[in-house]
Amino acid sequence: MSWNKFRFFSKLRFKAAFWYLALFAASSVLLFYLISRYVATDMLRITDWLLESTVRDFTASYLTGKNTARYGRAISSSDVPKPDISAFQAHLPGVELLAAYRSQLGANFYYTLFGSRGKELYEFRLGENDIAYSRLLHPEQNLPFLRKEFADKLQSFGSDNVYFRFYTPDGSLFESNELRKGSGGSNPGLSTETENGREYRVMRQALFDGSVIEAGRSLRFVEERLTMYTHIFLMFLATVLMFGAVAGYLIAWKLTAGIERVSDTARRIADGDLSLRVKLKHEAVEVDQLVDAFNAMSENNENLVTELRTVTDDIAHDLRTPLTRMRGQAEIAAAGDTDLDGFREMCGAVAEECDSMMRLINEMLEITRTESSINRLLRVEFSLTELIRQAGMLFCELAEDRGIKLEVAIPEQEILLRADKVKIQRLVANLLDNALKFTLPNGVVYLSLAKRDDSTLIAVRDSGCGIAPEDAERIFKRFYRCDASRTLPGNGLGLAMVQAIANAHRAKIELESSPGEGSCFTVIFPPE
Ligand code: ADP
Repeated sequence: MSWNKFRFFSKLRFKAAFWYLALFAASSVLLFYLISRYVATDMLRITDWLLESTVRDFTASYLTGKNTARYGRAISSSDVPKPDISAFQAHLPGVELLAAYRSQLGANFYYTLFGSRGKELYEFRLGENDIAYSRLLHPEQNLPFLRKEFADKLQSFGSDNVYFRFYTPDGSLFESNELRKGSGGSNPGLSTETENGREYRVMRQALFDGSVIEAGRSLRFVEERLTMYTHIFLMFLATVLMFGAVAGYLIAWKLTAGIERVSDTARRIADGDLSLRVKLKHEAVEVDQLVDAFNAMSENNENLVTELRTVTDDIAHDLRTPLTRMRGQAEIAAAGDTDLDGFREMCGAVAEECDSMMRLINEMLEITRTESSINRLLRVEFSLTELIRQAGMLFCELAEDRGIKLEVAIPEQEILLRADKVKIQRLVANLLDNALKFTLPNGVVYLSLAKRDDSTLIAVRDSGCGIAPEDAERIFKRFYRCDASRTLPGNGLGLAMVQAIANAHRAKIELESSPGEGSCFTVIFPPE
C-alpha cells in the first residue's frame, strides 16, 4: 500500500476537520454522560420520594381507617404540644406515639394521637377540661380501606410500573398486582433489589403489630428513558457530525487554499518559470504574509538569476573578443610567414590580452568578495581629509593632461572615518576616474568632503556628458555602460565596485545628473 493512498488523510484540511470533529464528539459524549448520570440520579430521587410518601399514606390508612380526614391534618410528633404527650403517656404507660392529627374547632386545637403498646393500637384525645379519652383500635378492620387505597394508587401510577404489598402479622400476603413475582428481600427502608435481571426500587415499613407495608417501583422506566435519550443524542450527534464534517472541511479548505496556492506556484517555479507569483486574496493575515514573503523571495530569486545570466553573458562577451584576437594572431603565426620579430610582437600582444582578461576576472572576483565581506572589512580609523587630499593630488596630473580643472574642497576641521581604507581609496579613485573620463577638455571636476548632521559626505561633481534618468539605476549593475560611452575605454565594473564598497560600509550613494550638464555622485557614510 503506497503512502499516496493516504495523501488525502495527511492533508492539513482533513486533519484540521478531523481533530475539530473528534474534539467536538468527545466533549459531547462526555457532556451527555454527565447529564444522563444526573438525570438517572434525579429520577431515582423522585422515585424514593414517591415510594416514601405512598408508604406513609398506606400506614395512615391502616392505623386510622377511612376516616383519616375527620382527625384533621397529619402532623409530625414534634408538633404535638408537650401536655398532650405527657397526658397520653400518663394515661397509657409505655405507649409509643405512631401518628398525630390536629383539628381546629373555633379558636381551639384538638390533637388525636395514635400509639402502640405491645401489639395493641390506641387512639387518644385530650378533651375539654383535660379529660382524656382513649380507645383500643383494631387495625385489621381497616384492611378493606387499605386494599381500596392500593387499587386507587395502582390506577394512578400504572400496574406495569408499581406494586404494593401488605404482609399481615401472621405472615399472609395481600398484594396489589403481580408486577413482581418473588417475595423480595426483607430490608426495612429503601433498597434496590434485582429479580430475574430486573431492578426494583423498594420501600418497606415494619409496623407495630409485625405487619409490613411494601411499595416497589420497577426501574425499567429509568433504563427506557436513558435508552431513549441515548438514541436521540446519537441521532443528533450523527447529524451534527455529518454537517460538521462538511462545514469543517470547507472551512479548513478555505484556510489552507492559500498555502496550496503557494506550494503549487513554488512547484511550477521549480519547473523553470521564474516569473510566476502567487495572487493575494486576503484570506487571512498569516496566509497574506506568507504570500507576500513568498512573492518577495521569488522576485529576488528572479532578479538574481537574471542578473547572473546577464553577468555570465557579459563575461562571455568580454572574454570572447580578446580570445578571438589571440586566436587570429596564433593562426597567422601558424601559417608560417612570420619571422622571429613577428613572433615576439605576437607574444607581447597575447600577454597584454591575457593581462586585460586577468584584470577583468580579478575585478569581478573583488566585487563579489566585497559584496559578501560586510563582516570582514579591515576597519581602521584614519583621516578621510588626508585621503581626499592625496586623491586630489594623485588625479591632478591626469586632469591636467586632459585639460580639465580639478578642484578639491576640504573642511578645515579634520574628518576621521572608521572604514576599510584601501576600499575607500578605490571608491574615490573610481568616481574620479569616471568624472575625468566623461568630462570634455576645459570642463571642471570638483572633489569635496563635508559633514551633514552626523553623516560624512564625499562628493564628486563634474561638468561632463551627464546620465539619462533611465540609466541612473542601471549604471551600478555589472558591465552596464551607457550607449554614449561604449567607445571610451572601460568594462562597466567601476560603479559596481563603488556600490559594493558603499554597501559593505552601509553607505548610501546619491546621484544627481542631467544629460549635457554633468553629474554629481555623493557617497553618504552614516554616523557610527
Ligand atoms: P566604465 O566607466 O568602465 O564604463 P562604470 O561602471 O564605472 O564603467 O560606469 C558605468 C557607466 O556609467 C559608464 O559606462 C558611463 O556610461 C556611466 N557613467 C559613470 N560615471 C559617469 C559620469 N561621471 N558621467 C557620465 N556617465 C557616467
